[in-house]
Amino acid sequence: MVRIAGQRRRTDRPLVETTSAGGAIFRPNGKLFLLRKTNEKRWCLPKGGVEEGEQPEETALREIREETGLYCHLVGHLTDIHYKYYWSPDDVNFDKTVKYYLAEVVGGSVRLERGFDLYRWCSEKEALHLLHYENDRRVVRSAFKRLRGIRGSAGS
Ligand code: ATP
Repeated sequence: MVRIAGQRRRTDRPLVETTSAGGAIFRPNGKLFLLRKTNEKRWCLPKGGVEEGEQPEETALREIREETGLYCHLVGHLTDIHYKYYWSPDDVNFDKTVKYYLAEVVGGSVRLERGFDLYRWCSEKEALHLLHYENDRRVVRSAFKRLRGIRGSAGS
């Protein structure tokens, strides 16, 4: 789910831990799915908050479905990223962990959720160029590396 933008961390406010999960989604031609948040005009990977009673893998699949319209299979866990921001509706800082999974499309068709205005299937170079945050680029590098490993071993 995408909400209004957070702001720079406020050191006078409490820090609350929160976890999201998302996916680096590939289609069979080896291109990666990125989408752009309308409010910030920033490219990102699909993700969202882990709800009560949910496993992060379930969250990743649900958020991918909701945000992109795509049905995916999770190949495996890639990496976690961490960042902090001030969330004005609750007047707290969030200390967020996002768990990212390598995902393959198995069905559906792209239908962006409200809050996103563009999407693109990208090469590694294009994705690294479009993404705003270095930690997201780290996820993408590890996703392409993992994919090369899987495809290389499948071909040998
Ligand atoms: P979620 O999709 O997890 O429910 P959200 O859409 O409510 O989250 P975020 O995407 O985490 O919110 O954005 C909240 C704030 O954090 C924004 O200011 C955003 O620019 C910033 N942000 C988003 N991604 C990153 C990142 N990878 N590294 C650092 N800051 C980020």
